[in-house]
Amino acid sequence: MFQTTSNFLYVLKNIFLLAACLSATCFSYAQEADPEATKGGPSGPVRGLEMRIPVDTLDTEDKFTKIILFRDFTWEYWDLGRPVIDDDDFYEGWNTESIHAFKDIPLSDLPDEIDLCLADSLHGYCCPLIGKVRSRFAYRRTREHKGTDLPLTRGDSVRAAFDGVVRIVEFSRNSGGYGNMLVIRHANGLETYYGHLSKHLVNTGELVKAGEVIGLGGSTGRSTGPHLHFETRYMGKAFDPERLIDFETGTLRDSVFVLKKHYFSIYSHYGQDDSESVAASQRMLHTIRSGDTLGALAMKYGTTIKKICQLNGISSSTTLRIGRRLIVR
Ligand SMILES: [Zn+2]
Repeated sequence: MFQTTSNFLYVLKNIFLLAACLSATCFSYAQEADPEATKGGPSGPVRGLEMRIPVDTLDTEDKFTKIILFRDFTWEYWDLGRPVIDDDDFYEGWNTESIHAFKDIPLSDLPDEIDLCLADSLHGYCCPLIGKVRSRFAYRRTREHKGTDLPLTRGDSVRAAFDGVVRIVEFSRNSGGYGNMLVIRHANGLETYYGHLSKHLVNTGELVKAGEVIGLGGSTGRSTGPHLHFETRYMGKAFDPERLIDFETGTLRDSVFVLKKHYFSIYSHYGQDDSESVAASQRMLHTIRSGDTLGALAMKYGTTIKKICQLNGISSSTTLRIGRRLIVR
């Protein structure tokens, strides 16, 4: 834990200096606040019980161990517990070079339903950032927005949602739109992505606990202002993070989550019932080419102009820009 003896002695010295200061403060406070304690004196039975009261903690070089200081000048190591990574499959597809490690695995290879235990006595949870969602998991103008955007002030703490291991630490120049970003893999196979950070505070391969500050918020990459872009993925496939977390209150919706295959569609989102989500995932898209008209598309796909307008939130007089994708069914 401590690399050298001198290092250890230095820490010990500081502990006792701090403990002495804190004890003095606590004793004087106790004497003022509790006249009985003053009467009994420091050697009385009540005072004796008070002696083992923790007064502070100190960090060590191992982030999962702290030192706990007691009022009687004694100290102990305090084991905070490490993330439980006991699944043989955990490192399958483990790739620290590529953000999208599973891009070659087709959706058809995934089961229809996957049961994920999100949190229990061994596996923690913490909302990465509490706030009102600014942009949801959805098809946005001309591209898929595969995460949840949460506004922040540059430098705000961004926290690990669950216990896990950092798979990717990537900087703006290599991550495309994500800017400075992190990917954390969790024991249940889930991965969480944190984009547009101003700073990373963890390294690749590092164990992290839910709630640990892993980076600071920013606006790096394709971003129009400071915010956290947060994604949840399973085998590289993204689904709506709001299915797991109510970001406004910071609460986990349930400790167990059934991930259904149709959730991986960009049109499937939290708030839909199962039949709506299935229908949304089966939507058919058409990319506008030169000469396309709504009338021609309606005829081609066996639908009506009105229906196409409803599905896309456009009117029959909207100009169809070449390259735009329209939902046609
Ligand atoms: Zn985003």
